[in-house]
Amino acid sequence: MKILCIGRNYSEHIRELGNETPEDIIFFLKPDTSLTKGNEDFYFPDFSSDIHYECEVVVKIDKTGKCIPVEYAKKYYSQIALGIDYTLRDIQSKYKEKGLPWTLAKGFDYSAPVSEFIMLNDLGKDIQNIDFTLKKNGQIVQQGNTAYMLHTVDEIISYISEFITLKTGDLIFTGTPKGVGPIQKGDILEAYLEGKPMLKQEIK
Ligand code: ZN
Repeated sequence: MKILCIGRNYSEHIRELGNETPEDIIFFLKPDTSLTKGNEDFYFPDFSSDIHYECEVVVKIDKTGKCIPVEYAKKYYSQIALGIDYTLRDIQSKYKEKGLPWTLAKGFDYSAPVSEFIMLNDLGKDIQNIDFTLKKNGQIVQQGNTAYMLHTVDEIISYISEFITLKTGDLIFTGTPKGVGPIQKGDILEAYLEGKPMLKQEIK
């Protein structure tokens, strides 16, 4: 199982980090060891002093596919969840400056908590019209809707599968909206999808 994550997929988030909007779909990988079940506590590791949360809609791949045309991409998923793409912003900034790979900043252990999955059919909503919200200590810090993605889920699946075969159980983090920010020990993060509580983590 692999975890693929899309970078820079919401324009207001690109602006808040001072990044440029890329022409291509930009993605990176997290190893399966970064995955945790949503409601486990997150233990602040001692190798970073600036960790950011990034709340994202996560799509689970249902069957193996390669070179999937955009118009067939819907056949390859039926469930979504919410996840947090924890990022070591200090380490990422240091490596980005030098043009070096920043796998460590994204791929460390427990950096990808994911909630339970829900069937899109049960939700009765289009994948490109899903509201999601992240609260930190009870205050809303991120409020997104998948309608504002620069690249749709179907485009992402089609693009990635040109280069990397998608397999059953693979997860795609589809990018974060604006409002990313730091965590501290004692913080509580709660993520909601269409108003439904999906994931709650305490930072320890
Ligand atoms: Zn992210």
